Amino acid sequence: MIKLQKPAFAYLGGRVVPWEEANIHIASEALIRGISVFEGIKGYWREDLSSLQLLALEAHFFRLCRSARLQHLPFSMSLSEFREACGDLARCLMVLDRDLWLRPTIYSVEGHWGEGTVADLAITCYHQEKRAPGRLKVGITGWQKPGDSVLPARIKSAANYQMARIVRIEGRERGFDDMLLLNSNGRIAEATGSALIMVRNGRVVTPPAYEGCLESITVDIVERLCKSLDLPFERRPIDRSELLVADEVALCGTLMELGIVEQVDAYRLPDSSPVIDAIAERFWACARGLVEDPAMDLTDIGGCVHREAVQT
Ligand code: PMP
Repeated sequence: MIKLQKPAFAYLGGRVVPWEEANIHIASEALIRGISVFEGIKGYWREDLSSLQLLALEAHFFRLCRSARLQHLPFSMSLSEFREACGDLARCLMVLDRDLWLRPTIYSVEGHWGEGTVADLAITCYHQEKRAPGRLKVGITGWQKPGDSVLPARIKSAANYQMARIVRIEGRERGFDDMLLLNSNGRIAEATGSALIMVRNGRVVTPPAYEGCLESITVDIVERLCKSLDLPFERRPIDRSELLVADEVALCGTLMELGIVEQVDAYRLPDSSPVIDAIAERFWACARGLVEDPAMDLTDIGGCVHREAVQT
């Protein structure tokens, strides 16, 4: 997980600014109604290039645009301008041998109930150790994932994380690394900040967005990696009981990458996870440039490395 950091720079108002200057007014709709949409984008350190590569930048840009559209947030930046903005900040902050995590957020900075809305793109960017996640214990919460007509989960809006925060706190209290939420039909939706994949009889299965899930970009990558590895991949609803007796389970997302689950509630999963291990191995080999696979869309940011850009 990202520890609290205070990097030297952020991006706001169309340029890179010192961290202390990246502020939003207390009267903005971003604060009073929590009106913002965001993305998380991972930058992988590449030893061979002495540079960073951003994963699935284009897919994140288009999901951000869709989230903004649904939330009536005007956002007219082009993909190349967005790439430039992320690259500018990442180049200022990257340090040798560490990954980055960027959080582009569109905030409603002016306007009232959608009238006269002015939105701005802010980007924060944090350092991350280069390491694969450990094995996870996850619980199932009694809180429910809202349906599409209650709070659409397919977009990445701040509102969707209000419940996730409550559930994550519950998980910590109960001794779990993360928690799963069920939808109103009692089927698996997703975890607080990641999607879920399960392996059953050699098939990789994940719930579709209509089950109450974010349209995960990592799941799309996993789907393409499965194609490269000749593994069957399927999107279909997953019952709670089916998950509890699955062969393998993992949480997956930009920040989580592929975190193998060893326990769901009181149920221990089998010790070996050959299918998910194979997918994760290919994922990491691609991220570090050891294997090339179009399943992973990586954008080099170029530029020089700053060793002292972070204050934790
Ligand atoms: N679901 C939720 C609720 C999330 O916060 C995330 C992380 N963005 C995911 C799923 C995984 O999405 P992605 O693979 O696009 O990061």
